[in-house]
Amino acid sequence: MIEPSHSMFADVSRYFDRAAAHTSFDPGLLEQVKQCNSVYQVAFPVRKDDGGIQVVQGFRVEHSHHRLPTKGGIRYSADVTLDHVMALAALMTFKCALVDVPFGGAKGGVRIDSHNTSPAFRERVTRRYTAELSRKGFIGPSVDVPAPDYGSSETEMAWIADTYQALHPNELDSYASVTGKPLALHGIPGRIEATGRGVSIGIREALADVDQVRAAGLSPGIGGKRVVVQGLGNVGYHAARCLVEEGAVIVGIAEREGAIHAPDGLDVDAVAEHRLETGSICGYPGARVLGPGEDALELDCDVLVPAALENVITQANAPRIRARVIAEAANSPVHPDGEAILLARHALVIPDLYLNAGGVTVSYFEWLKNLSHVSFDRMSRRNDESRAERTVAAVERLIGRALPLPERSAVTGGAREIELVRDALEETMATAYGQISELRRQRSLGDLRTAAFLFAIDRVARSYMAQGIFP
Ligand code: NAD
Repeated sequence: MIEPSHSMFADVSRYFDRAAAHTSFDPGLLEQVKQCNSVYQVAFPVRKDDGGIQVVQGFRVEHSHHRLPTKGGIRYSADVTLDHVMALAALMTFKCALVDVPFGGAKGGVRIDSHNTSPAFRERVTRRYTAELSRKGFIGPSVDVPAPDYGSSETEMAWIADTYQALHPNELDSYASVTGKPLALHGIPGRIEATGRGVSIGIREALADVDQVRAAGLSPGIGGKRVVVQGLGNVGYHAARCLVEEGAVIVGIAEREGAIHAPDGLDVDAVAEHRLETGSICGYPGARVLGPGEDALELDCDVLVPAALENVITQANAPRIRARVIAEAANSPVHPDGEAILLARHALVIPDLYLNAGGVTVSYFEWLKNLSHVSFDRMSRRNDESRAERTVAAVERLIGRALPLPERSAVTGGAREIELVRDALEETMATAYGQISELRRQRSLGDLRTAAFLFAIDRVARSYMAQGIFP
């Protein structure tokens, strides 16, 4: 059981300290890297649908100003606290550093239950929250750029963009004030799927890491691996779909209303459609609903993907987790005491600060696109196509025959923006995995999380040193 007084920021600090012990930086510098730089808490009144007034709590925490703007999603949840937001903001700093995205970390929180409120109420809350952030300088393309998180989506990001634009009509780059926007409102293709796609790339990379995987008692490779996913929201749904594309089999899915199990595999889109139609994943044909006393997290599988909430694996249930790989798609799904048990049992934990960094990576691309006011493929696509046409024509002349049409069009088409985004995401996730895995090996670290924190702390600390603030 996690106590109500339990601090998530203290958990992140614990991981930080564990990694920082492997550095020789000045203690003052490490303290600066660890603490939250700016914290804003606000309460504002919003008209409810029944005419009454609700006072809503809002938070924004900028964890690190070593790079600007700061960046991080906004969590809409009745349970969100300042402590959560501080912890998530800190994770964002290390996440950005790890995947070489030039932002400091930030996070926002709005204390409402987004699943049980009307769109009209959420719009009033979101617009007012944006105005409060703007008033205090906690939003803007060069200072702090929010994005979606648990309970928020591109709809909320559109309201934020529109409100910010209305408040700053003369700002040329106003749409770069928030990412995760709809495509029709200066968004980028591939942002919605980005976190889940990144999760699946990260799992694939980890499962190809032969020593790690053998040490966890599995055979290398993602093909045929049995996966259980908790949470079929943005991250969980896209992670599950992409994992199937990679050759894995989804054998279990858990949602708020219950969990289903199908050892031969689930059709993720069909389950999502069933949930949309009936309001529940339970009752999906061909799958068994888990009974009372059963827990999806404890199902027999190779890879467990918690993609919903924090602290779902604790000291209490860690001994019963059967998966050999725990892939942290959500932020902080494994409590440090639960992690200690998993590691003692030689399970492989792929840490959140690496695994769900695909979202902020593609947010970075969206921000760049908004600042340049041009899509990534616009200036090059036709040119790439005609160069490829000329090359293929030369090859055909040389070999004395025309290439078959499918092969010809596979090489002559210029890259579309979605392909550029996906390739850049793939490159980012694969490179970052290689770096933390190599660091773990070089420094003989027991786990990937310590390696990921160590890599990120080093980058942030060196950035402060380069600014001349610390010796
Ligand atoms: P979301 O709101 O789209 O989805 C969360 C899902 O979890 C919902 O479908 C919800 O019904 C489900 N859920 C809630 N309680 C549950 C329970 N007890 N058991 C099973 N399912 C439950 O949120 P999201 O954006 O997918 O975020 C999920 C996690 O990923 C969060 O920890 C978030 O911080 C993290 N994350 C999200 C992004 C992003 O780009 N959206 C990026 C990085 C990290």
